[in-house]
Amino acid sequence: MEHPTPRPADLPLPGGTRAGGGVRVHPLRTAEMKAMPDFYARPAGPGPLAIIRGMGLHRPRSQWFWVPIPAFLIEHPQAGPILIDTGMHEQVATDVGAALGRLAKIAFTIDMRPEWAVPAQLRERGIDPAGIALIVMTHLHYDHASGLSQFPRATVVVDEREWAAARRGRITDGYLPHLFPATQEWRTLPGDADEVDLLGDGTIRLLSTPGHTPGHRSVALRLDDGTDMLLTGDAAYAQRTIDEDLLPVLTWRDGPYRASLNRVRDWIAAHPGAPVVTGHDAATWPALAPVYPVR
Ligand SMILES: [Zn+2]
Repeated sequence: MEHPTPRPADLPLPGGTRAGGGVRVHPLRTAEMKAMPDFYARPAGPGPLAIIRGMGLHRPRSQWFWVPIPAFLIEHPQAGPILIDTGMHEQVATDVGAALGRLAKIAFTIDMRPEWAVPAQLRERGIDPAGIALIVMTHLHYDHASGLSQFPRATVVVDEREWAAARRGRITDGYLPHLFPATQEWRTLPGDADEVDLLGDGTIRLLSTPGHTPGHRSVALRLDDGTDMLLTGDAAYAQRTIDEDLLPVLTWRDGPYRASLNRVRDWIAAHPGAPVVTGHDAATWPALAPVYPVR
Protein backbone atom coordinates (compact mmCIF):
# COMPACT_ATOMS: atom_id res chain seq x y z
CA MET A 1 0.00 0.00 0.00
CA GLU A 2 1.42 3.31 -1.08
CA HIS A 3 0.97 6.17 1.35
CA PRO A 4 1.14 9.92 0.92
CA THR A 5 4.49 11.45 1.87
CA PRO A 6 3.55 14.55 3.86
CA ARG A 7 5.78 17.58 4.11
CA PRO A 8 5.61 20.26 6.80
CA ALA A 9 3.07 22.91 5.86
CA ASP A 10 4.47 26.28 4.83
CA LEU A 11 2.39 28.39 7.22
CA PRO A 12 0.32 30.38 6.85
CA LEU A 13 -1.17 28.78 3.76
CA PRO A 14 -2.01 31.20 0.91
CA GLY A 15 -5.48 32.66 0.46
CA GLY A 16 -5.92 34.59 3.69
CA THR A 17 -8.05 37.70 3.52
CA ARG A 18 -6.50 41.07 4.30
CA ALA A 19 -9.86 42.76 4.52
CA GLY A 20 -10.78 41.17 7.86
CA GLY A 21 -13.59 39.03 6.46
CA GLY A 22 -14.87 35.77 7.79
CA VAL A 23 -16.25 32.42 6.76
CA ARG A 24 -19.58 30.67 6.36
CA VAL A 25 -19.94 27.17 7.80
CA HIS A 26 -22.21 24.37 6.53
CA PRO A 27 -22.50 21.34 8.85
CA LEU A 28 -22.96 18.25 6.66
CA ARG A 29 -24.26 14.95 8.02
CA THR A 30 -22.69 12.33 5.77
CA ALA A 31 -23.95 9.20 7.52
CA GLU A 32 -25.19 7.79 10.80
CA MET A 33 -23.57 5.04 12.77
CA LYS A 34 -24.72 2.83 15.63
CA ALA A 35 -22.80 3.71 18.78
CA MET A 36 -22.27 1.50 21.82
CA PRO A 37 -24.56 2.16 24.81
CA ASP A 38 -21.91 4.01 26.86
CA PHE A 39 -20.29 5.78 23.88
CA TYR A 40 -20.67 9.20 25.53
CA ALA A 41 -19.92 8.23 29.14
CA ARG A 42 -17.67 5.47 30.41
CA PRO A 43 -19.22 3.43 33.25
CA ALA A 44 -17.65 3.97 36.66
CA GLY A 45 -15.06 1.51 37.88
CA PRO A 46 -11.45 0.51 37.22
CA GLY A 47 -10.04 1.36 33.77
CA PRO A 48 -9.96 -1.66 31.47
CA LEU A 49 -13.05 -3.29 32.96
CA ALA A 50 -15.04 -0.08 32.69
CA ILE A 51 -14.01 0.21 29.05
CA ILE A 52 -15.02 -3.38 28.33
CA ARG A 53 -18.36 -2.81 30.05
CA GLY A 54 -18.74 0.46 28.17
CA MET A 55 -18.22 -1.25 24.84
CA GLY A 56 -21.53 -2.89 25.57
CA LEU A 57 -20.71 -6.05 23.66
CA HIS A 58 -22.86 -7.99 26.11
CA ARG A 59 -25.77 -5.58 25.72
CA PRO A 60 -28.48 -6.08 23.12
CA ARG A 61 -28.01 -4.19 19.87
CA SER A 62 -31.32 -2.46 20.61
CA GLN A 63 -29.46 -0.39 23.23
CA TRP A 64 -27.05 0.94 20.62
CA PHE A 65 -28.10 4.27 19.12
CA TRP A 66 -27.54 6.31 15.97
CA VAL A 67 -25.00 9.15 15.97
CA PRO A 68 -24.21 11.53 13.07
CA ILE A 69 -20.96 11.28 11.09
CA PRO A 70 -20.28 14.90 10.13
CA ALA A 71 -18.07 16.93 7.81
CA PHE A 72 -18.05 20.70 7.39
CA LEU A 73 -17.95 22.95 4.35
CA ILE A 74 -16.20 26.26 5.02
CA GLU A 75 -16.72 29.05 2.51
CA HIS A 76 -13.80 31.45 2.73
CA PRO A 77 -13.97 34.71 0.76
CA GLN A 78 -10.56 34.23 -0.90
CA ALA A 79 -9.29 30.71 -0.22
CA GLY A 80 -12.50 29.25 -1.66
CA PRO A 81 -14.40 26.21 -0.38
CA ILE A 82 -12.51 24.23 2.28
CA LEU A 83 -13.53 21.00 4.01
CA ILE A 84 -13.09 20.16 7.66
CA ASP A 85 -13.06 16.33 7.65
CA THR A 86 -14.73 14.30 4.92
CA GLY A 87 -17.18 11.96 6.64
CA MET A 88 -18.06 8.72 4.89
CA HIS A 89 -17.27 8.00 1.23
CA GLU A 90 -20.36 7.70 -0.97
CA GLN A 91 -19.47 4.05 -1.60
CA VAL A 92 -20.25 3.33 2.06
CA ALA A 93 -23.91 3.80 1.14
CA THR A 94 -23.86 0.80 -1.19
CA ASP A 95 -20.92 -1.39 -0.15
CA VAL A 96 -19.34 -0.91 3.30
CA GLY A 97 -16.94 -3.79 2.72
CA ALA A 98 -15.52 -2.31 -0.47
CA ALA A 99 -15.26 1.17 1.05
CA LEU A 100 -13.87 0.35 4.48
CA GLY A 101 -12.83 -3.30 4.39
CA ARG A 102 -14.24 -6.66 5.45
CA LEU A 103 -13.61 -6.20 9.17
CA ALA A 104 -15.35 -2.84 9.16
CA LYS A 105 -18.34 -4.37 7.43
CA ILE A 106 -18.71 -6.81 10.30
CA ALA A 107 -17.94 -4.34 13.08
CA PHE A 108 -19.91 -1.25 12.06
CA THR A 109 -23.60 -0.60 11.51
CA ILE A 110 -23.86 2.39 9.19
CA ASP A 111 -26.85 4.10 7.64
CA MET A 112 -26.08 6.20 4.59
CA ARG A 113 -27.51 7.23 1.26
CA PRO A 114 -25.25 8.26 -1.65
CA GLU A 115 -26.75 11.76 -1.59
CA TRP A 116 -25.51 12.26 1.98
CA ALA A 117 -21.86 12.05 0.88
CA VAL A 118 -19.98 15.35 0.76
CA PRO A 119 -19.64 15.55 -3.07
CA ALA A 120 -23.43 15.32 -3.51
CA GLN A 121 -24.02 17.86 -0.75
CA LEU A 122 -21.50 20.23 -2.38
CA ARG A 123 -23.23 19.92 -5.77
CA GLU A 124 -26.54 20.64 -4.06
CA ARG A 125 -25.01 23.95 -2.93
CA GLY A 126 -23.66 24.77 -6.39
CA ILE A 127 -20.06 23.84 -5.55
CA ASP A 128 -18.01 21.58 -7.81
CA PRO A 129 -16.34 18.89 -5.65
CA ALA A 130 -13.31 19.08 -7.95
CA GLY A 131 -12.88 22.67 -6.78
CA ILE A 132 -12.02 21.59 -3.22
CA ALA A 133 -8.35 22.49 -2.92
CA LEU A 134 -7.90 22.19 0.83
CA ILE A 135 -9.08 19.67 3.44
CA VAL A 136 -8.29 20.12 7.13
CA MET A 137 -8.52 16.95 9.20
CA THR A 138 -9.41 17.16 12.90
CA HIS A 139 -7.97 13.64 13.10
CA LEU A 140 -7.68 10.58 10.87
CA HIS A 141 -10.20 8.10 12.25
CA TYR A 142 -11.98 6.20 9.48
CA ASP A 143 -15.31 7.97 9.97
CA HIS A 144 -13.61 11.32 9.27
CA ALA A 145 -11.16 10.13 6.59
CA SER A 146 -13.33 7.73 4.58
CA GLY A 147 -14.31 10.44 2.09
CA LEU A 148 -10.77 11.69 1.38
CA SER A 149 -10.35 9.82 -1.91
CA GLN A 150 -13.32 11.71 -3.37
CA PHE A 151 -11.04 14.78 -3.58
CA PRO A 152 -7.86 13.55 -5.30
CA ARG A 153 -6.64 17.07 -6.14
CA ALA A 154 -7.04 18.49 -2.64
CA THR A 155 -4.17 19.25 -0.26
CA VAL A 156 -4.77 17.56 3.10
CA VAL A 157 -3.62 19.27 6.30
CA VAL A 158 -3.18 17.32 9.54
CA ASP A 159 -1.19 17.52 12.79
CA GLU A 160 2.16 15.72 12.49
CA ARG A 161 1.42 13.70 15.66
CA GLU A 162 -1.81 12.48 14.09
CA TRP A 163 -0.10 11.43 10.88
CA ALA A 164 2.58 9.56 12.85
CA ALA A 165 -0.14 7.63 14.71
CA ALA A 166 -2.40 7.02 11.72
CA ARG A 167 0.05 6.01 9.00
CA ARG A 168 0.71 2.70 10.77
CA GLY A 169 -2.57 2.73 12.67
CA ARG A 170 -4.89 -0.21 13.04
CA ILE A 171 -8.64 -0.57 12.94
CA THR A 172 -8.60 -1.23 16.70
CA ASP A 173 -7.27 2.33 17.10
CA GLY A 174 -9.86 3.70 14.65
CA TYR A 175 -7.43 4.02 11.73
CA LEU A 176 -7.65 2.50 8.25
CA PRO A 177 -4.46 3.65 6.46
CA HIS A 178 -5.75 2.47 3.07
CA LEU A 179 -8.09 5.48 3.20
CA PHE A 180 -5.19 7.94 2.72
CA PRO A 181 -4.73 8.39 -1.06
CA ALA A 182 -1.11 8.57 -2.23
CA THR A 183 -2.24 10.89 -5.03
CA GLN A 184 -2.97 13.73 -2.61
CA GLU A 185 -0.55 16.34 -1.33
CA TRP A 186 -0.37 16.10 2.45
CA ARG A 187 0.97 18.82 4.77
CA THR A 188 1.63 18.47 8.47
CA LEU A 189 1.20 21.00 11.26
CA PRO A 190 3.84 21.16 14.00
CA GLY A 191 2.57 19.11 16.94
CA ASP A 192 3.97 21.62 19.43
CA ALA A 193 1.97 24.50 17.92
CA ASP A 194 -0.77 25.12 20.48
CA GLU A 195 -2.78 27.13 17.94
CA VAL A 196 -2.25 27.39 14.17
CA ASP A 197 -3.73 30.35 12.29
CA LEU A 198 -4.07 28.38 9.05
CA LEU A 199 -4.39 31.25 6.56
CA GLY A 200 -2.81 33.94 8.75
CA ASP A 201 -6.03 35.97 8.81
CA GLY A 202 -7.63 34.56 11.96
CA THR A 203 -10.53 32.95 10.10
CA ILE A 204 -9.48 29.31 10.69
CA ARG A 205 -7.56 28.53 13.88
CA LEU A 206 -6.57 24.96 14.65
CA LEU A 207 -6.39 24.32 18.38
CA SER A 208 -4.33 21.43 19.70
CA THR A 209 -6.78 19.14 21.54
CA PRO A 210 -5.09 15.72 21.83
CA GLY A 211 -6.50 12.87 23.87
CA HIS A 212 -9.19 11.39 21.64
CA THR A 213 -6.21 10.71 19.36
CA PRO A 214 -2.52 11.76 19.61
CA GLY A 215 -2.79 14.73 17.23
CA HIS A 216 -6.43 15.78 17.38
CA ARG A 217 -7.25 19.44 16.57
CA SER A 218 -10.43 21.42 17.13
CA VAL A 219 -11.31 24.26 14.77
CA ALA A 220 -12.13 27.82 15.85
CA LEU A 221 -13.65 29.96 13.11
CA ARG A 222 -14.36 33.65 12.61
CA LEU A 223 -17.67 33.96 10.81
CA ASP A 224 -18.42 36.63 8.23
CA ASP A 225 -20.53 38.60 10.72
CA GLY A 226 -17.46 38.92 12.96
CA THR A 227 -18.62 36.35 15.54
CA ASP A 228 -16.86 33.11 16.45
CA MET A 229 -17.74 29.43 16.17
CA LEU A 230 -16.11 26.24 17.45
CA LEU A 231 -16.01 22.78 15.90
CA THR A 232 -14.77 20.60 18.73
CA GLY A 233 -14.30 17.51 16.57
CA ASP A 234 -14.06 14.43 18.74
CA ALA A 235 -12.49 16.38 21.63
CA ALA A 236 -16.16 16.33 22.71
CA TYR A 237 -18.58 13.85 21.17
CA ALA A 238 -21.60 15.76 22.44
CA GLN A 239 -22.76 18.89 24.22
CA ARG A 240 -23.36 16.61 27.23
CA THR A 241 -19.67 15.78 27.21
CA ILE A 242 -18.90 19.45 27.87
CA ASP A 243 -21.79 20.19 30.23
CA GLU A 244 -21.40 17.07 32.37
CA ASP A 245 -17.61 16.66 32.02
CA LEU A 246 -18.00 13.15 30.59
CA LEU A 247 -15.15 10.79 29.81
CA PRO A 248 -16.19 8.76 26.74
CA VAL A 249 -15.82 5.00 26.70
CA LEU A 250 -12.77 5.19 24.43
CA THR A 251 -9.88 7.66 24.37
CA TRP A 252 -6.27 7.41 23.25
CA ARG A 253 -5.15 8.81 26.65
CA ASP A 254 -7.46 9.99 29.41
CA GLY A 255 -5.13 12.69 30.83
CA PRO A 256 -4.66 14.70 27.62
CA TYR A 257 -8.34 14.09 26.81
CA ARG A 258 -9.43 15.80 30.04
CA ALA A 259 -6.97 18.65 29.51
CA SER A 260 -8.33 19.20 25.99
CA LEU A 261 -11.93 19.12 27.21
CA ASN A 262 -10.95 21.84 29.69
CA ARG A 263 -9.47 23.80 26.82
CA VAL A 264 -12.77 23.51 24.93
CA ARG A 265 -14.61 24.70 28.04
CA ASP A 266 -12.22 27.67 28.42
CA TRP A 267 -12.80 28.62 24.78
CA ILE A 268 -16.57 28.54 25.30
CA ALA A 269 -16.28 30.68 28.45
CA ALA A 270 -14.22 33.23 26.50
CA HIS A 271 -16.77 33.30 23.62
CA PRO A 272 -20.21 33.42 25.24
CA GLY A 273 -23.04 32.72 22.81
CA ALA A 274 -20.76 31.37 20.08
CA PRO A 275 -22.15 28.29 18.31
CA VAL A 276 -20.33 25.08 19.27
CA VAL A 277 -20.70 21.90 17.21
CA THR A 278 -19.51 18.70 18.85
CA GLY A 279 -18.26 15.54 17.15
CA HIS A 280 -21.09 13.01 17.13
CA ASP A 281 -24.07 14.48 18.96
CA ALA A 282 -27.34 12.69 18.28
CA ALA A 283 -29.26 15.12 20.53
CA THR A 284 -28.11 18.50 19.18
CA TRP A 285 -27.49 17.71 15.50
CA PRO A 286 -31.13 18.07 14.37
CA ALA A 287 -31.24 21.62 15.78
CA LEU A 288 -28.17 22.87 13.89
CA ALA A 289 -28.65 25.64 11.34
CA PRO A 290 -27.91 24.71 7.71
CA VAL A 291 -25.42 27.60 7.52
CA TYR A 292 -23.53 29.74 10.05
CA PRO A 293 -23.69 32.63 10.75
CA VAL A 294 -27.45 32.41 11.09
CA ARG A 295 -29.10 35.47 9.52
ZN1 LIG B 1 -12.55 9.91 16.21
